[in-house]
Amino acid sequence: MKQLVVTSGKGGTGKTSVVASLAALADDIVLADCDVDAADLHLVLSPERRRREVFSAGFLAVVDASACAGCGRCVEACRFGAITLEDGQASVNAYACEGCGVGELVCPAGAVRFEETDVGEWFVSDTPAGPMVHARLRPGAENSGKLVTVVRREARAEAARCGAGLILIDGSPGIGCPVIASLTGADLALAVTEPTLSAQHDLERVVEVSRILRTPVVVAINRWDINLDVTNAIEEWCHKEELPVVGLIPYDTAVTRAQIEGRSVVETSDGAAAASLDALWRRVEGILTGTSGED
Ligand code: SF4
Ligand code: SF4
Repeated sequence: MKQLVVTSGKGGTGKTSVVASLAALADDIVLADCDVDAADLHLVLSPERRRREVFSAGFLAVVDASACAGCGRCVEACRFGAITLEDGQASVNAYACEGCGVGELVCPAGAVRFEETDVGEWFVSDTPAGPMVHARLRPGAENSGKLVTVVRREARAEAARCGAGLILIDGSPGIGCPVIASLTGADLALAVTEPTLSAQHDLERVVEVSRILRTPVVVAINRWDINLDVTNAIEEWCHKEELPVVGLIPYDTAVTRAQIEGRSVVETSDGAAAASLDALWRRVEGILTGTSGED
C-alpha cells in the first residue's frame, strides 16, 4: 500500500481542494485528514461516521478543592505559573500546565492529582471516495503531532482491512510537529504552493523538512496564472533542486463554486482547473506506481 501526503508550507494554498479532487479521481483509497488543528476535508466529502474514539494525551494537574488547605506551596513551586490561589483555594489553568508533576509532589494535603486529559477525538467515517480517518483537537490543545500519528496508524489499519492500495493524506500546513508526523514514512509528498513570495518561501521550508525525513517531493503550483513572474521563479527553483513540477492548476472560479457546493471541482466542472487536476493525478499516480519515468 502506498502513502501519498499532500502538504503545503502554509495554509491557504488550496491544498484541501487538491486532496478532494485527487480523492474523487483515485480508486481504491483510504483518506487520512492529518490537518488536525483545522480539519476541513469532511466539508467536501460528506462523511458518515461509523466509529468515534477519545484522544487522550498527556497528564495535567487538577486540584481537589475539598482537600486544598490553601498553603500556596504549589503556587510557589509551579515554574509555569499554572496554579493560582484565590480565596484560599488553589486552581490549575489547564492551558498553562505543562504536566511536570511538581504540584503533586509538594502538596502536603495530597490535594493535587495528576490526571490524563482528553484533548480531542478521532473518527472513522465512510465517504463516497472511500473510508476516511479524521480527528478533532480541542481548541488550544497541544499534542497535534501525536494525534496525527494516531490518524495515520488507524488509516493504515483501515487500508489493510479493506485492501486499499493508497492512503491519501491531507497533511498539516507549515513545518511543525504535525507536519513531520504527516510526512514521516510517506512514499511521496505533493507540495501544493501558489505564486506568492510567502508561499514560495514556505515551499522551500517544507521541501527541506521532507528531505530530512527522506520523503520524495513533487510540486504543484495552484492558481499559477495569477503571478507569472513568481510562477517562473518557483519553476526555476524546482528545476535547480530537481523537483518535478507535476501540476500547474490555473485560477478557475469553478473551484470556488465547487467549494460552495461542498464537492470537488473535478466532480462539478470540466473546465481548466479540473482538466489540470486530472493531468496532475495521472502524473502522481505514474510516479507512485513507478510507470512515469519521473525521478
Ligand atoms: S503539573 Fe507542573 S506545570 Fe502543571 S500545575 Fe503542577 S507544577 Fe504547574
Ligand atoms: S499545595 Fe496543596 S494544599 Fe497547598 S495550596 Fe496547593 S493544592 Fe492547596
